[in-house]
Parts: sequence; C-alpha cells; structure tokens
Amino acid sequence: MQCPYCGHSENKVVDTREAPDSIRRRRLCANCGRRYTTYERVAQIGLMVIKQDGRREAFDRQKLLSGLLKACAKRPIPMQAIEAIVDEIEMELHALPHSEVDSQQIGQMVMARLRKLDDVAYVRFASVYRRFADLDALALEIQRLKERKQREAEERLQVKMAL
Ligand SMILES: [Zn+2]
Repeated sequence: MQCPYCGHSENKVVDTREAPDSIRRRRLCANCGRRYTTYERVAQIGLMVIKQDGRREAFDRQKLLSGLLKACAKRPIPMQAIEAIVDEIEMELHALPHSEVDSQQIGQMVMARLRKLDDVAYVRFASVYRRFADLDALALEIQRLKERKQREAEERLQVKMAL
C-alpha cells in the first residue's frame, strides 16, 4: 500500500471501522506523516445467475439475503440463522465447477434450508419463488409440506423405536 502523497509503502493503521460491506482503515504514512484511507472489500464472486426469463445477472448476496429476510419477517428466527443460510449457499455456489447457475437452483437451495428452519418462512418463500398460480396451488404445497413433516416425524419415531 503506497502513500498517495509521497509513495512510501510503510504505514501504521491508526483507526479501523467496520461497515457491512467493507472495512475502512485510516493509515499514517511512516515517511511524510500524512493520513490516508484504505478500504477493504470482499471480492465479488464472478457468478452469473440465469433468471427464469433467460436474462443473466451477477449473483447478488444482498438480494438473496433480502429475499430471505422478507420470508422470515416477524418469525422467531435469529438473524444469525438467516445469515448462515446465505453464507452456506454462497459457499456452495462458489464451489460449483461452472460460473453460471440457474435461479431455480438457488431457489431450491433456499427452500431446502427454510423447510428445516420454519414452516411459515418456507411457505412464504415458496409462494414468491414458485409464483403459485392460485390459492389451490398454494394450498396443495402446504398440504405436501404437512405430509412431508408427518412422514419425517414418523421416520424419526421408527428410528427411536428401533434403537
Ligand atoms: Zn507519505
């Protein structure tokens, strides 16, 4: 890091502030004694999302987070749990061998996690994401969710009894 005044590279960090998307550091040049500011940001992962209408857009972590926050609004879900989902999905996407991903696939990843976390948030997210044509389609999805939960509960019970 070179001082913008004299070009010297030695400096001392005199102040560090964290913002949601960056870290700001005030530095003191060891040569000329002037102060300057540097910013540290996470490099954008070069992932493109293919939307349902076929358009491509850069993967946006913030957009994913705000979709989840909407689905989880006023539910007893800690913020950390929501951020953990976003982190996990981002990591999973980052590990993909290709640089394009279907928005459907991201939607599935979110739904698989929300289903375990909170029924209401799951249904809310699914209703936006799947764009249910009408109330019947939504009711059907809720019915399926109930059946799945029931099945999972029974499976757990059987495992317990088998032990
Ligand atoms: Zn300097």
